[in-house]
Amino acid sequence: MNARTPLLLTSESVIAPRRVEQVVTGRAVTDGDGVRINRVLTQTHQRRLDPFLMLDIFGSDSAADYIGGFPSHPHRGFETVTFMLDGRMRHHDSAGNEGLLEPGGVQWMTAGRGVIHSEMPEQEEGRMEGFQLWLNLPAKEKMCAPWYRDFTAADLVRFETDTGAKVQVIAGTSHGVASVVQREATQVLYLDIELAPGARFSQPLPAGHNAFVCAYRREVRLGEGAQVGAGETAIGHGQMVILANEGDGVVLESTTGGRAILVAGRPLGEPIVQYGPFVMNSQAEIHQAMADFRTGRLGTMT
Ligand code: MN
Repeated sequence: MNARTPLLLTSESVIAPRRVEQVVTGRAVTDGDGVRINRVLTQTHQRRLDPFLMLDIFGSDSAADYIGGFPSHPHRGFETVTFMLDGRMRHHDSAGNEGLLEPGGVQWMTAGRGVIHSEMPEQEEGRMEGFQLWLNLPAKEKMCAPWYRDFTAADLVRFETDTGAKVQVIAGTSHGVASVVQREATQVLYLDIELAPGARFSQPLPAGHNAFVCAYRREVRLGEGAQVGAGETAIGHGQMVILANEGDGVVLESTTGGRAILVAGRPLGEPIVQYGPFVMNSQAEIHQAMADFRTGRLGTMT
């Protein structure tokens, strides 16, 4: 399938939509070499949103906000998923992978036992915008071999529903449409959803799976009258909604049209110990990761 022949599918039904548990606006941070980021999923949400560890939104028309990029740095114990909306970033890593992230593309990197990489802007002006999600690995896979893959916008599988939604499946399976990225332990579902004015999208979700929605264009409403605040039912750019686990799925609607990502996964229920770019299950494993990084056993950039 390619981008020019979208499937038109009947929207699946959700009878008891999950309610909104919390709306998170995020906080401004800088990371890498001075890149300005809105961090919406922070360490305080790691237990509640297990297996997700972090969600950053970056977006600026000003080169000063991103030009420093993310020079060489290590990771161990989890996966990073970067979804580019605009701009171009060049990736290099110690496993010998190189890739160019372009608008609409996705980079999936499983750090496993260790990767050192750089993510640098390949532009000196213009807009840079996207998401980076950190997805945890189960204890038994934290020391797996690193894995890396780039998907261009045309590589991503997509479909449309008879209710006016255009959906790209970045990970997992929706409405029978499967991404090439499937994760057995976390059952991760990562959808990019574009709603036309008046459109609606329903996604059944297993009750035990933790889930959130983050809007990034105009407004998106949690369906069936779910309130996101006093008298407010819409979320706007950069707002994340944590969904309660009760109910059989999520319903998104938009009056004006809008776009959002929907992310869900099965919690691992294992200890989470993070020190910067290392996420393991114990302090001893963090100390080992730091020692391995110092002595070059985590990888070296060529
Ligand atoms: Mn990184």
